[in-house]
Amino acid sequence: HAKNCGKNNAKLYSSSLTMQIMSHVKLEVGLRRALQNHELYLLYQPQIDVPSGQIVGVEALVRWRHPERGIISPTEFIPLAEETGLIVPIGEWVLRTACAQARSWADMGPQPVRMAVNLSAKQFKDDNLTQVVLTALQETGLAPGLLELELTEGTLMDDARATMITLDQLRGIGVYLSIDDFGTGYSSMNYLKRFDVRALKIDKSFISGLPQDSENAAITRAIIAMAHGLKMAVVAEGVETDEQLVMLEHYGCDLAQGYYLGHPSPPESITLMLRNQYALASPATL
Ligand code: C2E
Ligand code: MG
Ligand code: MG
Ligand code: MG
Repeated sequence: HAKNCGKNNAKLYSSSLTMQIMSHVKLEVGLRRALQNHELYLLYQPQIDVPSGQIVGVEALVRWRHPERGIISPTEFIPLAEETGLIVPIGEWVLRTACAQARSWADMGPQPVRMAVNLSAKQFKDDNLTQVVLTALQETGLAPGLLELELTEGTLMDDARATMITLDQLRGIGVYLSIDDFGTGYSSMNYLKRFDVRALKIDKSFISGLPQDSENAAITRAIIAMAHGLKMAVVAEGVETDEQLVMLEHYGCDLAQGYYLGHPSPPESITLMLRNQYALASPATL
């Protein structure tokens, strides 16, 4: 303790490092309470079928409304949740909430949208994962094929044997599996083939320079060609301009997601978008 360390050390203790540690601990205490205090909520970002322009999916993105600090980004608190193991109950809440929302949207119209949920490495390694997924599906009545689980290369490459077993179990349930932030991690082509997931999400860092950046353009084209060769779908993340969308369409990219197509939005906004989409589609189906 600072008291026993003398004057100079006491000064050291009140350094910015101490402040950082204290705010980290405070944040952790807060995160423990966030779930029970209903401070977490989900936004949903539309995923567009590039050829038709229709919303065919949404990605659930968690937010934390902190009582003092305001809204905290998942890039800040998900790593903390991982460190502390809180990601397991938080992830379970995200899954259940997202599945319930997807079920209610599926009941709205003829072409139900898929719900993508991010899984972190700790969740993927949790022994109860398949049970948690099954329970979320059963409790909400959501068709397994309408739930997409997004995994990163880092999560998948960590322990190849365990990964294959878990992937098999999830495929057995019938959920749709995809690799998030593709191209930023480390995965061998050999494993990519064996993982046998349904879709790759091209990381937004490759999309952001398009259409000018010819190297990112080459990478994007190569990922699309490879994915299609392996019978996978491709989603472009971080599409911010019309020029990017036109280029991606030209390259044959299947789905797109980004601020140009829709920001992460509260559920009511997505409900309105879907209602419009179904209203426009209905004359043809009558
Ligand atoms: P991600 O899964 O790759 O999600 C995409 C991120 O890109 C989101 O950030 C989204 O808001 C942002 N984004 C979407 N369109 C654009 C765009 O056009 N331009 C730019 N610059 N960014 C765009 P967000 O919501 O801050 O989430 C950050 C990350 O936190 C996610 O990256 C994901 O890895 C993690 N995350 C979010 N929600 C959850 C969750 O429920 N569980 C877990 N385990 N991780 C989550
Ligand atoms: Mg994601
Ligand atoms: Mg991610
Ligand atoms: Mg991503």
